[in-house]
Amino acid sequence: MSNRPLLMIPGPIEVSDGVSDAAAEAPRSHVAPDFVEAMGGSLQAMRHVWRAGEDAQPFILAGSGSLAMDMATWNVIEPGERVVVVNTGFFSDRSVEMLHRRGAHVTQVSAEPGDAPSIDAVARALDERPTAALFATHVDTSTGVRLDAEGLCRIARERNVLTVFDGVCATGGERFEMDTWGADVYLTASQKAIGLPPGLALLVASPRALERRRALSAPPPMSLDWLEWLPVMTAYEARRPSYFATPATTLVWALRTGLDEILSADTDPGTAMDARVSAHATVAGTFRAAWRDMGLDLVPVSEALAANTLSAIRYPDGIGQELVSAIKERGVVVAPGLHPEFKDRYFRVGHMGDIITRPADISRCIDAVRDAVQATRAEL
Ligand code: PMP
Repeated sequence: MSNRPLLMIPGPIEVSDGVSDAAAEAPRSHVAPDFVEAMGGSLQAMRHVWRAGEDAQPFILAGSGSLAMDMATWNVIEPGERVVVVNTGFFSDRSVEMLHRRGAHVTQVSAEPGDAPSIDAVARALDERPTAALFATHVDTSTGVRLDAEGLCRIARERNVLTVFDGVCATGGERFEMDTWGADVYLTASQKAIGLPPGLALLVASPRALERRRALSAPPPMSLDWLEWLPVMTAYEARRPSYFATPATTLVWALRTGLDEILSADTDPGTAMDARVSAHATVAGTFRAAWRDMGLDLVPVSEALAANTLSAIRYPDGIGQELVSAIKERGVVVAPGLHPEFKDRYFRVGHMGDIITRPADISRCIDAVRDAVQATRAEL
């Protein structure tokens, strides 16, 4: 075992040896035949991982999850339009700010931190006034709350409202059926449950979402504009090189490996994704049982709301951020709280991506937390 601490924050995460080796290769040209194959194959594989239809359009961009959020915002919303945002925490707040900067009129449907608004409450907000889109954070990394994305898609589709899901802490670790549920944008970043280092913004847009872009009265900033990127993505998928702005060739090379690893669980991509999500759910269950055993409470108010991809855990009575340092002294890096209203009262442990295949590292993390909790309690 290396002396490097085990990285258990909710992204960036530990990556597989295959992904790490691919990411360590010398950079390729963006027009090299093997790169064209990696990019084209990754675009195709994304449709499987997103459970999207053939008519949906994947985009692979150099950038962060925030860039993907801005891109979605700028391509589907016109200034002056109304958007309903389901607000579950820090990243929903960011989405609201982006929408405001786009000139949207935002109505927020919120709940207490750790809880989620009911589907009925969101439906009522949609019915108040004509609404262009519903934005939601599939898993909010600041609370560990997972929304009922399927239910949200249903009420939005019934009302002909576009849906945009921030899947940055979810895609590849939580169930999401883009085609069957009729979602319009599902976006993520590479450093989370997809299992890569940071640096890629990944999203899939439905034909309806692309139609919205085509109907905008003014184009988005050039580097965010789907219509600039569309011919590039189409060309690569047809195994032809193309250029609008230089892709992150090394990361795309690693992406091909990472997506193949995800889909290699079964010859049928749907079965492979089911296996991937249920493996994340099983590991999340192991972590939650360990937290319970240590007498620790979760931030999500019910098991049903608790994400597969991370745990947000309240500090034991009398203990605060020193617990995060004590865990680090035991060789494991976890994250402090993030939600502005109570970030000093909890910490977060990521359990997504390759870690789900590493029982020894899962035990190492749990043991480090248990030992740190016991030691800090003993000092009280
Ligand atoms: N949304 C969610 C749910 C996230 O967890 C994050 C990152 N933690 C982001 C958006 C922003 O992603 P990035 O840091 O890659 O910009």
